Amino acid sequence: MGKTAIVGGGFSAFSVSKSIDCAHEILTPYICPAGVSQFQSNKLMSRNCGTNLTLCLESQRIRLHDRVILGGNSKIWGGFIDVELTHPMALENLKAYGVEVIKLGIDETGSTSNRVQICQLQRNGRILDVSELLRVDFDEHIDNFYLSGSNIVLKSSVSGFAKKYEKVYLCVGILQLIEILVNAKLILDEDVISLEEFEHKLSFHLGSPYIFDLNYDGCVIRYGLARAVSHYIGYQKRMIKDLMPLWVDQVFSGVKSTVNFIYNHGRLIPIEEVNFGGSVHYCNLKVNGVRVQDLLSLKFPNVFVVGMAAVDQAISGPISNDILNLAWSLK
Ligand SMILES: Cc1cc2nc3c(=O)[nH]c(=O)nc-3n(C[C@H](O)[C@H](O)[C@H](O)COP(=O)(O)OP(=O)(O)OC[C@H]3O[C@@H](n4cnc5c(N)ncnc54)[C@H](O)[C@@H]3O)c2cc1C
Repeated sequence: MGKTAIVGGGFSAFSVSKSIDCAHEILTPYICPAGVSQFQSNKLMSRNCGTNLTLCLESQRIRLHDRVILGGNSKIWGGFIDVELTHPMALENLKAYGVEVIKLGIDETGSTSNRVQICQLQRNGRILDVSELLRVDFDEHIDNFYLSGSNIVLKSSVSGFAKKYEKVYLCVGILQLIEILVNAKLILDEDVISLEEFEHKLSFHLGSPYIFDLNYDGCVIRYGLARAVSHYIGYQKRMIKDLMPLWVDQVFSGVKSTVNFIYNHGRLIPIEEVNFGGSVHYCNLKVNGVRVQDLLSLKFPNVFVVGMAAVDQAISGPISNDILNLAWSLK
């Protein structure tokens, strides 16, 4: 029997793995081959991967994502983190793994922000890709779990894998978590599932990349055109210099919106059609109004969710700080 398991291979799994002091095993697939899926989020320059979700989202206006690959979204992300909102010890701890916190600047990262405390996580001069720092113990896609005495059995119905653990961290991303909770009978037909995000839009700015509206209460991340294109296509190395004074602003407003779905036979059916998901930082998964960790703790006190699903983001902008803090608080 293994004592502690981390299920997942993205930034959340990385945050837990480097925060907890005890020996642990990591269970996650190296890659799920690309196919056709409404949840796929590949970029031109990133390694294509797919998703094995059976969930179906019945909406044209809501966008949700899933990436089943070691590294998860950290293979295509911006690496942005709000260091003022991050536990200093959790940040300091990452240094031991070669992770650097780089201040934003047009010459340094190709980006700036109205919040000076927003930085970029890098390693070896590139945006942090956590696949370089995770050691997989079982190349398994976990789709269910159940109690066996006081232990938790993690299961894959595809491979037949099953193993007992004393403590489990589920770090699989929101949609995969919903599917696991359905299989574990914690989400049932006609349950209401909700998610939140800070509203998000893109706009253009002409002039100095360092001048922002000081009264704006949201978060702006500004990219040079070359960096914006690199971000769009998933190119994570240093890029050519921006020469034009035209900048792309990624704006996370201070206004939160919520989306509610009815779950029914593998389908997520929105109660109201809204634009949602554009921020890719949607969080705070609730089932019938109950936060996901509270739902789990009732029956599975040794199962912990780490990731956007378990975070109630208080301030708009990067969410990696909330994830890292959560992992650190569970150590
Ligand atoms: C394009 C893009 C850019 C982003 N940029 C930023 C940014 O700059 N800053 C920021 O704070 N946030 C950013 N985000 C949000 C970002 O996704 C999160 O901050 C962070 O990457 C979430 O990590 P995660 O490990 O929880 O999820 P994921 O990155 O989705 O990783 C989930 C992992 O679990 C594995 N997995 C999935 N299902 C199973 C299963 N059933 N069994 C076993 N393993 C499984 C997957 O293969 C994957 O490795 C961005 C998101 C996107 C899509």
